[in-house]
Amino acid sequence: MLTPASGQIDISDKVRVEGRENYAFRLAPWLDIESVSLDDHPLEVTSLGHKYLVALPDSKQHVIAFTMRGRIPSRGDQQSSTAMHSSSGSDGVYLPGYDAWIPQAEAGPIRYRITVKLPPDQRAVATGKLVSEQLGDTLYQATFEVTHPGEAPSLFAGPYQVKERISQGLRLRTYFHAELIDLADVYLDAADGYIQRYQASIGAYPYADFHIISAPLPVGLGFPNLTYVGRQVIPLPFMRTRSLAHEVLHNWWGNGVAVDYAGGNWAEGLTTYMADYALARDKGEVAARSMRVKWLRDFAALPAQRDQPVIAFRSKQHQASQVIGYNKLAFVFHMLAGEIGQPAFEDGLRRFWSKYVYQQAAWKDMQTAFEQAAGRDLDWFFRQWLQRSGAPRLSLGAYSVELVEAGYRTRIEILQPVSGYRFKLPVLLATDEGNQRHELTVTDTLTRVEFVTPAKPRYLHVDPDSDVFRRLQQDETPPILRDITLNPSAITVIASADAEFVAAARNLAVRLMDVEPRFDTLSALQDSARPLLLIATTDNLAGQLAQLRLEQSPELPDMVHSAAAWTAGRANGAPILVVMAENAIELQSLLRPLPHYGGQSYVLFAAGQAVSRGIWPLDRGSLYLDLQDSL
Ligand SMILES: [Zn+2]
Repeated sequence: MLTPASGQIDISDKVRVEGRENYAFRLAPWLDIESVSLDDHPLEVTSLGHKYLVALPDSKQHVIAFTMRGRIPSRGDQQSSTAMHSSSGSDGVYLPGYDAWIPQAEAGPIRYRITVKLPPDQRAVATGKLVSEQLGDTLYQATFEVTHPGEAPSLFAGPYQVKERISQGLRLRTYFHAELIDLADVYLDAADGYIQRYQASIGAYPYADFHIISAPLPVGLGFPNLTYVGRQVIPLPFMRTRSLAHEVLHNWWGNGVAVDYAGGNWAEGLTTYMADYALARDKGEVAARSMRVKWLRDFAALPAQRDQPVIAFRSKQHQASQVIGYNKLAFVFHMLAGEIGQPAFEDGLRRFWSKYVYQQAAWKDMQTAFEQAAGRDLDWFFRQWLQRSGAPRLSLGAYSVELVEAGYRTRIEILQPVSGYRFKLPVLLATDEGNQRHELTVTDTLTRVEFVTPAKPRYLHVDPDSDVFRRLQQDETPPILRDITLNPSAITVIASADAEFVAAARNLAVRLMDVEPRFDTLSALQDSARPLLLIATTDNLAGQLAQLRLEQSPELPDMVHSAAAWTAGRANGAPILVVMAENAIELQSLLRPLPHYGGQSYVLFAAGQAVSRGIWPLDRGSLYLDLQDSL
């Protein structure tokens, strides 16, 4: 029996053990054992702090029965809002399995069946299949069962309103606080869609149920067959898209196949690649590349002493470990798909899944699955990307263009000072008669290549779409909003004759700029190298840009928008941030959201909502060669 309002809980637990001489377990410090029996005979347990030991007469099957009671720590009493520990409050109770709210054996995975009883205005949900539930005048009770051995049960309860959908035999539910009930259908639709998608690409969903549970805590946690998400976060759009997809996919990677942590955590990077990154790819190559570039930019910002090999990653403890364990690793999967081809990559994942579902798997198990799918050895690949910290660096050496009988011969040296990396490297060669894409295999510190083309070469771009995980050169980092807004010498220009637009633009400049904005006119700034914030109406923008000799707007994603902010570099090297809107009302609607996008190169808005954002492809800087004049 559980009473969420007071946190009072009474537990009776029967544990069936076999094949061992004693039963050692942990128990949460707020629980007291009231009685223990072994095969129906009362028993004393020896305790050492919160560890306990029951001696068994032999290794045959025995039943140990416990009764316990306690008061779950109230959330208000806890020092921090840490999600690590059990907590209770009138708006919800959280009992994670690893917190030993039932006796937790030190040895191995378990199967369980659990029945929860609560006051009738409360609902409880646990990991496992919902096998029955009843609502009476004085009680709600529900029973959950897990038949494949796994982790200890986690239990959630609160004043929830439950919405259910059955989809292809799966039971999907939301356990939401009252204010969120209008979002239930949106969440059920989205979860259903993601489950169908991952089933099709990996293999059948491994559980009978999937629940989305509203949490009083500001968390976003994945458990087998459910996700526990902060009630404040549930209304935010990213939660029901990217974050929900990520948590749903953890039912395959991390829960369905559990991580053998001794060898490193492969699950976060794979989930990031197949959920977060795949959603970006759905939007188009611009968004996918933008995500890869963001990962590279984050890695470039990581101090060398905080870098670590991928296999050292266990869980996200700080931002630095996320840069490696999520982002670098997701990028490694992108390169693996490129190395062995998409069909072999997908085949490898399905092999890995079907062999290890309901079990633990380590990196070497995954390597074997991909090697079988690709029909070749991949030890070099896994070694260099997982066991080494750091990343290759790339630069261009000597080059030449010569006239030859067949046309033009372009020669170039590609340098990588850090030795021992081997990777595929895309090269784009643009000529007067179109573009050619080549793929090189780089293995040495110096790679010499030559291309013969009938038409005159214009430029050459190595890794034009950022497909290789590498350490960026300083001159490559693409401009972002912060390059202008954080620079105290930046000047703001407002280009509009409409008084309302000008007033809105002044307010926006104050919100955006880190220091008090300084205003000037465009004509005074034509040859200035100061960073520039230009706020203009959409229809007079072209004229303004021409004055700055910035004739081309960058290539923005093809999406309907009524306002946008984007960065560019002027010919003299000065960065510019352009904010354009159709009218004063659209501009006004950017006041609140736009300052949140400082890390982006561009953001598009429709009616005050960001509809697309991203980082530019890397500056052409060091891996781009203009060949026009090199004959
Ligand atoms: Zn995750």
